[in-house]
Amino acid sequence: MIYLDHNATSPAHPQVLEEALPFLTEHFGNPSSAHSLSRRPRAAVEQARARLAAWAGCEAREVVFTGGATEANHLALRGVRRPGRPLVSAVEHPSVLAPGESLGAERIPVDGQGRIRLDALAELLRKPTTVVSVMAANNETGVLSDLPAVADLVHHAGALLHVDAAQVIGRRAAPGRWDLLTVTGHKAGGFKGGGALCVREGIHLAPELLGGGQERGRRSGTTNPAPLVSLGVVATLEHSPELRALRDRFEQAAIGLGGVVTASEAQRLWNTCNVRFPGVPSDLVVMGMDLEGVAVSAGSACSSGASQASPVLTEMGITTADALRVSLGWNTTQADIAAGIAALTVVLERIRAQGLSAEGTA
Ligand code: PLP
Repeated sequence: MIYLDHNATSPAHPQVLEEALPFLTEHFGNPSSAHSLSRRPRAAVEQARARLAAWAGCEAREVVFTGGATEANHLALRGVRRPGRPLVSAVEHPSVLAPGESLGAERIPVDGQGRIRLDALAELLRKPTTVVSVMAANNETGVLSDLPAVADLVHHAGALLHVDAAQVIGRRAAPGRWDLLTVTGHKAGGFKGGGALCVREGIHLAPELLGGGQERGRRSGTTNPAPLVSLGVVATLEHSPELRALRDRFEQAAIGLGGVVTASEAQRLWNTCNVRFPGVPSDLVVMGMDLEGVAVSAGSACSSGASQASPVLTEMGITTADALRVSLGWNTTQADIAAGIAALTVVLERIRAQGLSAEGTA
């Protein structure tokens, strides 16, 4: 199987396996125990904390380890207790939108390229605001947010800026001026279940999970060394510039096959290609590619299998269910891209020959 769906999750990186696997076998101790079996896991978790802090540009004590980005997003939104309501960008991941909704959040609209509308944000900030949640890079389109401009507005209004960087760690430099920063390891070679919320010193957060008082009382639950060590490794990874050229090669081929690249005018993450084939239902393309041995996604993993337009693309004014998401990662090769293009060519030809259209099957 050729894997071109890294924004959903990625295979473990060899360095991750080397460093993290021993914490599932011989060094299995609980890092909080008093006996000597706790020492190795405790030291490894603290090394991971230091590595993550170095990437994020913060102090190790500002890192709160969690079970992934979903949990970190909940902690960021629900943990900030101040007068006012949160603001969330309309294209956030559901793990931001859902807790936001439970707190009466208002949504910041995006333009047709998926970029935050700064004029709308400025207007929304006129009312008391607790925290503003804007993702670093969108999981479906790869669109990068203009975080310096967002931070200027948010901080001028006296609110806190939360940045979901789930798709960015292990792929590019950390954003600069956040107050709360979400990460997860499994999109770039880490294990699932290892994430963190980085919290600037002085911000009081009400914990979501109460119990044993791990993570200095900010997140209880037995520390899980293997995924956290893997996250620490991911924080040290750098991508090769050749991978962007591979994405561009796929994109050019897709355009040649009648594709329209989503958000082509926006700054985008190097690994993501979201492309629409007007009139061709994306679920048929995903299934066809799967039969050809290539794993890709329609819109997002959460909405794949469903033939509705993705909520993210709908916010951008695209209401047809004809978008394909191809996302590259640390192990993607020239040969993978060539096979992906070949499979796409065959699948589109077959669907078009059968005369199926997005409208026809809706
Ligand atoms: N935020 C974004 C932008 C994502 O792409 C994902 C991935 O699904 C998440 C949050 C949730 O991450 P996790 O699987 O670590 O809970």
